Order: sequence, then structure tokens, then C-alpha cells
Amino acid sequence: MKEDLKVYDNVLQLVGNTPLIHLNKITEGFKGQFSAKVEAFNPGHSSKDRIALYIIEEAEKKGILKPGDTIIETTSGNTGFSIAMVSIIKGYDCILAVSSKSSKDKIDMLRTMGAKVYVCPANVPADDERSYYQVAKRLHEEIKGSVYINQYFNQLNIDAHFNSTGPEIWNQTEGQITHLVACSGTGGTISGTARFLKAKNPEVKIIGIDAFGSVLKKYHETREFDEEEIYPYRIEGLGKNLIPTATDFDVIDKFIKVTDEDAAHTARELARTEGMFAGYTSGAAMQGLKQLNEEGEFDENSKVVVIFPDHGSRYMSKIYSDDWMNEQGFFDTQTESATHTIEV
Ligand code: PMP
Repeated sequence: MKEDLKVYDNVLQLVGNTPLIHLNKITEGFKGQFSAKVEAFNPGHSSKDRIALYIIEEAEKKGILKPGDTIIETTSGNTGFSIAMVSIIKGYDCILAVSSKSSKDKIDMLRTMGAKVYVCPANVPADDERSYYQVAKRLHEEIKGSVYINQYFNQLNIDAHFNSTGPEIWNQTEGQITHLVACSGTGGTISGTARFLKAKNPEVKIIGIDAFGSVLKKYHETREFDEEEIYPYRIEGLGKNLIPTATDFDVIDKFIKVTDEDAAHTARELARTEGMFAGYTSGAAMQGLKQLNEEGEFDENSKVVVIFPDHGSRYMSKIYSDDWMNEQGFFDTQTESATHTIEV
């Protein structure tokens, strides 16, 4: 049972300090000990609460933001939700420029959280004045006292995790961690956490999870941007078609890639085995951990932490929909689909 029955002033006091939970059945037969840092326990249900709160509070400390000012970002994903949540509590206007590809559910969710959402055409180049990058840039220039979060190119994204996720994992494992497995999107989570852990113990091995269709793994190995690596894929929030400066490639020991299909099945397996209803990239991270185990990465002394970035509720119409799984052709070999639904 939870022992902490403290009353909080507002939701922001609950950002961070997420639990580390042992993985039991899904790692049966693996060598080592495995636990998940479950970021869905943040009040906005993802690790992005940490960067939204940290970046906004840093701007406040520097006197850049005053109540009533505006915060701008280009995202319809978790970061948008977290910025909207922090803005509501702290009294800022929140503007999110999103692509017209974003689902109606996502846009409705952001508007519910008080954000002003600019829906920008998806099929225009990044330098077109209607693209969400250009719209955000223009609004930032026009609106006096506005702050542009710019998570892919903001070093404070790394610092947020250096100052919270890193120390938390170090303390929760009592300094015993041997491996960190984490997804890389902007790279803020893995880079900040890794910087902290490596400062404490340079032997901790840091493994990034990348998607097929993304350039990160190849860039890490060659330090060259290889356009041929890029093609469309389904996992959202993981991998990238550009090199974010919020990724410190030097603190990452290696990247491994996972497929959309394996990540989706593994996310569903997490629900069935551990009772953890986690997001698509959590499935990707867990899938990466399985592949590492097969490669012989771990031994009896390994103490492995894997980060699960967000909650499963955001993927109801995707990996947790049997129809969607079927449409992707993901049920060819595994048929755990609607067999538990009994029509009366
Ligand atoms: N998973 C999800 C669901 C995300 O939204 C993100 C952020 N893009 C990540 C993983 C990766 O985290 P980071 O951006 O810190 O690399």
C-alpha cells in the first residue's frame, strides 16, 4: 500500500519521484535484476512533465517569464500536454503549433487543458511559412515576453533529467545500477540521466533505443547524417529524422533498433504479464531490453533500469486496438486479439 498520504497544493508538486518497479514475469529466465522507471506516475502521465516544469521554472528564475506571459511549443504529443498543464497552474498562456496529421483526440485533449492550438498543414516543407516550425517561430517573435521551449534544441531538456531522473534512479538503486535502457527522441531523457549516472559511476552502461526509419543509431556509430536511414515508421516519440542537439551522443554507449511490430506486441505483453498499461515507446524499450538479453548483454550481477516514458491510455486507437493491429498486419503470427471478449 502507498504510505504517503500527504495533501498537495497542486498537481505540479507531484512531478517526478516516480516509482521504480521490478519486472517479474516478462523477464523470467533472464540473467540479472530488472526494474522499470514508470513515468506514467507523473501527473501529466509522462516524463515530459519534468522538462515542462524545469524549463518554465528556469525561465522564471532568470526573470524571462512573468504571470500572463506566453509559452510556445511545436508538439501535439506529451510535451504539449505537460506544458499546457504547467501553464494552467502557473497562469501562463500556452500556444501549441501542431501538424494537421495530429489526431482529433490529441487536439481536443490539449484544448481541454487550456492550450491555444494552431493546426498547421502537414504536407508543406519545414521552411514554408505555414509549417508548424515557422508558425511557432513567427508567434514567438510577435508575442512579447514569450518563451519558445524548442525541446529538440534546448540544453535545459538535458538538465531537467540530470537534476531529477538521474538522481532518482541512482538513489532508488542505491548506486547499484549497471545498465540504463532508455528511448531516444529529443534525447533529453537518456542524455541527462546518463550524464548524472556516469558522473557517479563511469561504468554504468547506457543503451539507447531507436526505431527502424530513424537516423540516431547510424549517427552515433559514424557521426554522419545518413538520409538513407530515414523512412516512415509508426512508433511516436522515439527516433528522429534529424540530429537533435538535446542528445549527448558521447554519454550513450550504444543504440539498438526495434521494429514497430515487436514494440507493439511487447507493450501488450507488459499489460498481460506485469499489469502495466504503458505507452508504445515503453513497449519499444522493453523490446530493446529483451533483444539485449538475447545478445548476452547481461549477467547475474546486472541491475538494469528501463525507462517507461508514458501511459497506455494515449494509444487506445493504436496498439491497444485490435482493429489497428490487424490493419498494420501485426496479428499474422500472434493472435492474442479479441479472444477474451465474450458477447452475451
Ligand atoms: N516516448 C515518448 C512517448 C515520448 O513522447 C518521447 C519524447 N519525444 C520519448 C519517448 C523520448 O524521450 P526524449 O525526448 O527525452 O528522448
